[in-house]
Amino acid sequence: MFIHYRTQGFVLKKDNRGEANQLFTIYTKEFGKIKILGKAIRKSKSKLRGAIELFYLSEIEFIQGKIHKTLTDAVLIESFSDIKKDLEKLSVAYKISEVLDILIKGQEADAKIWQLLNETFNKLNDWKNENSLKIVYYYFLWNFLSVLGYQPELYNCCVCRKKLTPEKLFFNQEKPGIICNNCFKALKSGKEINSSAVKILRLILEKNWQILSKLKIDSEPQKSLNIISKEYYLFIINNQTT
Ligand SMILES: [Zn+2]
Repeated sequence: MFIHYRTQGFVLKKDNRGEANQLFTIYTKEFGKIKILGKAIRKSKSKLRGAIELFYLSEIEFIQGKIHKTLTDAVLIESFSDIKKDLEKLSVAYKISEVLDILIKGQEADAKIWQLLNETFNKLNDWKNENSLKIVYYYFLWNFLSVLGYQPELYNCCVCRKKLTPEKLFFNQEKPGIICNNCFKALKSGKEINSSAVKILRLILEKNWQILSKLKIDSEPQKSLNIISKEYYLFIINNQTT
């Protein structure tokens, strides 16, 4: 007899396998990231079909076979229907799922990541401030990187420890964090970062939704956030040890 495991999970990816099967990548509460095979799930009479879809939060049950985990039951908890209706929201959801899939290798539960995913999907679904939708993605990315141990220093210069003021500032990936203009001249390693972008990063890591949800981001800090986020993310992918 197989043991049946039950847990909640966010469906992050689905790939077709064979004629009617689907392989789901799911971030679960109890087991972390796992892959589960849905057998014959693309057949119209499959009873599980409506309960497990991309970016759904579902309660799932599975058995562990020799090679695959196989889905045996699924109950929909939350479909996040507003994400599906909005192409921009959908593209943020795809990016979140990609980041998570790339940076999480093994199967291990993590309450902080679970909590962050929950929070991010709910905020993304309910988001009204169209001007700054990307903030939801940054929110996930930077808090996720912090949970993984890559939290940057944003308040004092990483080198001289001086309290940072809105002068010319630089982001240094190795430290990681912000360095002041003086230290940058000596170190010559870092990328200039807009000082408003630093303030936004602080709000993100303080999880200050009250301000973040009303924020209007100008094009300069937006551009700076884009560049720093992308480069830091790539830096971490290339330097991941496990
Ligand atoms: Zn300094």
